[in-house]
Amino acid sequence: MALQVEGLAVRYGLAEAFRDVSLRVDDAQIVALLGNNGAGKTTLVRALSGTLARHGGRVVAGSARGAGLDLTRARADAIVRAGVVQVPEGRRIFGQLSVDENLAAGALALRSRAEARRIKAWVLDLFPVLAAKAGHPAALLSGGEQQMLAIGRALMSGPRTLLLDEPSLGIAPLATRTIMDTVREVNRAGASVLLVEQNTRLALSVAHHACLLHGGTIRAEGPAADLAASDVILELTLGRG
Ligand code: ATP
Repeated sequence: MALQVEGLAVRYGLAEAFRDVSLRVDDAQIVALLGNNGAGKTTLVRALSGTLARHGGRVVAGSARGAGLDLTRARADAIVRAGVVQVPEGRRIFGQLSVDENLAAGALALRSRAEARRIKAWVLDLFPVLAAKAGHPAALLSGGEQQMLAIGRALMSGPRTLLLDEPSLGIAPLATRTIMDTVREVNRAGASVLLVEQNTRLALSVAHHACLLHGGTIRAEGPAADLAASDVILELTLGRG
């Protein structure tokens, strides 16, 4: 198991974002988290990464030692060290810093320089454009390149589980394809992925498993191919659920 979420609840003041979200990401699995605008997908990712307070429920991450790590009360930095790393919506790269400096910032959680060098070589292999533009200010990259940098920065900490929030948002189709190919490759290298996407078809084509967040809870889930073949997502997201 890479990540287990049980009965998670998050509120903004008195407003409930969601009240009872349970889901599981298995080792080396890509799970798509689907849902309409405002369903609470970004809120869920932020609650999992510790950048937003949780108001109930339990979060456990898998670990190399086998026993799960209880992250229910962990802070954001401890969650990164536990191997659960978020790539935020809108990328949030450091625009004034160079591509190289952004990547170095992602390696802060690593224990050794040798490990940082090894992972960086892999990241630059995944995204050669980041090597070609190593010295450029990140703000000058295209949207797609910035998304690659945001993913590369997250990979620099050697995550077991990536939380990817809307990687296709505002990005040209060709760059989206490169990014999704990389998500598959990162997964083949052993990482698990929780992939948040509004583009349902795209997400289901990449993921092994999918969950639909609707009305404050997970209303449908199953193998991605089964959900792609059924009408359940369409029915719920068109408001007929
Ligand atoms: P989108 O695809 O538009 O990003 P989402 O599924 O990620 O949607 P969230 O952004 O998590 O949804 O929003 C869930 C709910 O919480 C929405 O009703 C939203 O208006 C509300 N919300 C989000 N951020 C805040 C905030 N900072 N303060 C108050 N309410 C918020």
